[in-house]
Amino acid sequence: SRILVTGGAGFIGSHLVDELLSRGYYVRVIDNLSSGSLRNIQHHMGEKNFDFVKGDLKNIDDINNSLKDIDAVFHLAANPEVRLSTTSPEIHFRENIVATFNLLEAIRRNGGVKVLVFASSSTVYGDPQIIPTPETHEIRPISVYGASKAACESLICSYAHLYGFKALSLRYANIVGPRLNHGVIYDFILKLKRNPEILEVLGDGTQKKSYLYVKDAVDATLYVFERINKTYDVYNIGNEDWITVREIAEIVAEAMGVTPRIIYSGGTPDGRGWPGDVKYMLLSIDKLKKLGWKPKYSSREAVKLTANALVREIIA
Ligand code: NAD
Repeated sequence: SRILVTGGAGFIGSHLVDELLSRGYYVRVIDNLSSGSLRNIQHHMGEKNFDFVKGDLKNIDDINNSLKDIDAVFHLAANPEVRLSTTSPEIHFRENIVATFNLLEAIRRNGGVKVLVFASSSTVYGDPQIIPTPETHEIRPISVYGASKAACESLICSYAHLYGFKALSLRYANIVGPRLNHGVIYDFILKLKRNPEILEVLGDGTQKKSYLYVKDAVDATLYVFERINKTYDVYNIGNEDWITVREIAEIVAEAMGVTPRIIYSGGTPDGRGWPGDVKYMLLSIDKLKKLGWKPKYSSREAVKLTANALVREIIA
């Protein structure tokens, strides 16, 4: 089938594109290159099964052009910076909710699309009462980013039921790997590049979260996609273990070959990196495992592989 990847020049999107092409799918990317980069996909330029559209989901014409002859859409375009929630909530409203609404309207009007896969997030759960958190847990986001993802899930669920296509919301844990362009590992490397003597960690360092290697994330995404059988379904995509920010700081320092003094900003009164930062995140992946999939790399291995890859990408 013919696939459109929104946000396909981004971190996860570009890895998804690599894998889709290697499995023989035709792939078109629409991306406005706001946080993504042509560098991530340039190795496919000129391939007969690949097409790139520079376009913005805020522009209906751009979406319509990109949907021509498309059977399935992987919708990854978004502003992924959770921290922006504290200063610029309208960005998440516009880039995530309005952009998704535009995409859904275009799908409704164009017909043709049979499946929509949405990149949602563990942040929809907020501070969960149950850890590992199952898909059935209530949705109580504590960041506008998380709220925007929850809003998109609801819109997608209703459009799938009303307008004759199947849809999946995939709630990703922290996804890491080569080409990562935001988040804690990336930030630590930039900080240590500037000053290898000191590493400031936001929060109290006890934040503990689950990390999934991007190859695992893409593999799980396609595993669920190729088995879709309901009008609408939700899956957590994450790891079975978790790791503290303090351990991540140590792994990154080791990957860079430096021994900084690690200091903690303290963050919010309860030790979060910033308001809206979820302090403990571990998703239950029982549903995914029942389907027959499990991750290859642990959180620690994923962070280590990523730190080594980013040191090469950023320092070299
Ligand atoms: P990313 O920033 O690398 O990818 C997002 C891509 O979307 C970028 O290439 C960007 O240029 C593009 N984009 C943004 N707004 C656009 C618009 N209006 N029109 C067209 N293109 C636009 O981030 P990522 O980490 O690869 O995230 C991909 C998706 O997965 C996002 O929806 C993100 O919210 C979600 N997600 C990521 C993680 C993670 O840990 N990385 C976790 C949970 C969910």
